[in-house]
Amino acid sequence: AKRAGRNAYAIFDPTMTMSVLEEAQQRADLEHALEHEEFRVLYQPVVDMNTSQLTAVEALVRWQHPRDGLLGPYHFIAGAEANGLIVPLGRWVLRQACAQLASWRAATPAAAHLKVNVNLSARQFQYAGLVDDVAAALADAGLDPASLTLEITESMLMADIEAAKETLHALRRLGVRLAIDDFGTGYSSLSYLKQLPVDVIKIDKTFVDEVHIDEDDVALVDAVAGLGQALKMQTVAEGIETDAQWETLRRIGIDHGQGYLFGRPAQPADVMELLLSELEP
Ligand code: C2E
Ligand code: CA
Ligand code: CA
Ligand code: CA
Repeated sequence: AKRAGRNAYAIFDPTMTMSVLEEAQQRADLEHALEHEEFRVLYQPVVDMNTSQLTAVEALVRWQHPRDGLLGPYHFIAGAEANGLIVPLGRWVLRQACAQLASWRAATPAAAHLKVNVNLSARQFQYAGLVDDVAAALADAGLDPASLTLEITESMLMADIEAAKETLHALRRLGVRLAIDDFGTGYSSLSYLKQLPVDVIKIDKTFVDEVHIDEDDVALVDAVAGLGQALKMQTVAEGIETDAQWETLRRIGIDHGQGYLFGRPAQPADVMELLLSELEP
C-alpha cells in the first residue's frame, strides 16, 4: 500500500466520471481561464544536497479560480490532457518559466547559475510543435538553453520509445537538459535508459518517505544513485520533508534534493528573497 500514493489520484481523475456536457463545460472553463490569465506558476527550490545552495527551481502550475480559489494541478491537468488544452497551457507555463528566470537573472547576480525545470505532459511531448515551442520560449526570454530542464515521466518515454528517442534528441540538439520525473514508479528498462539522452533522474517521493527507517528503500535509492553515476546522470530526490531523510539521502550520495524541508512551491518574489539571502556572506 506504501507505493500506491500516486496511483490513488487516478480515482479522482475528473475525466472518468464526466458527462459529455461536463467535459465541454470544463474545456470552456479552461479556455476562459487561459484567455483571462487565471493560471499562475509557483517555483519550488531544488538544492545541492551537501551545501543546501539553491541550484534550480521547478515550475508548478496553479489555477487562481475566481470562485474556487487557488487550485492545484490535480484539479485540472488530467482534464486539460484529455481535451488537448494542455498543449497551449503547457506552452504558457514554459514561456512564463523562461521569462521568470530571465527576470531573476536581470535582477541579481545570485541567479546567474539558477536553472528552471518545467514539466511536460504526455500530449505535449507527442505534439509535433514542441521543439519549436521550446526554442521560441528560450529565444524570446533571451535564455541559454542549458538553463532549462524539461521533466518527462517514464511512461511518456515507454509509450513509443522510438518516437520518444527522436524527440529527446531533437530537444538535446537545442541544448536543453532532460530529466526523468517520478523515477521508479514506471517501467523503464535499464537498456532503454542507457540509450536516452537524459541528464537528470528524479527519484520519486514514495522512495524517500521512509528511506530513513526502511532498509529496502535505502537499497533502492542506493541502486539509483549508482545508476546515475554509471550513466553520468545527476540524481534528485523528491519530497524530502525531514532532516533524517535528508541526512540518509546525502549519505547515499544523491546530488540534489527537493521537498518541503528546503521550501514549498513559492511566488517569484519569495524565490528572489531566497536568492538575495544567499548572496550574503
Ligand atoms: P511532480 O512533477 O512530481 O511535482 C512535485 C509535486 O510534489 C508538486 O505537487 C510539489 O508541490 C509536491 N511536493 C514537493 N515537495 C514535497 C514534499 O516535501 N512533500 C509533499 N507532500 N509534496 C511535495 P503539485 O505542485 O501539486 O504538482 C503535482 C503534479 O502536477 C506534478 O508532480 C506534475 O506531475 C503536475 N504538474 C504541475 N505543474 C505542471 C505543469 O506545468 N505541467 C504539467 N504537465 N504537469 C504539471
Ligand atoms: Ca516534476
Ligand atoms: Ca516528480
Ligand atoms: Ca512525484
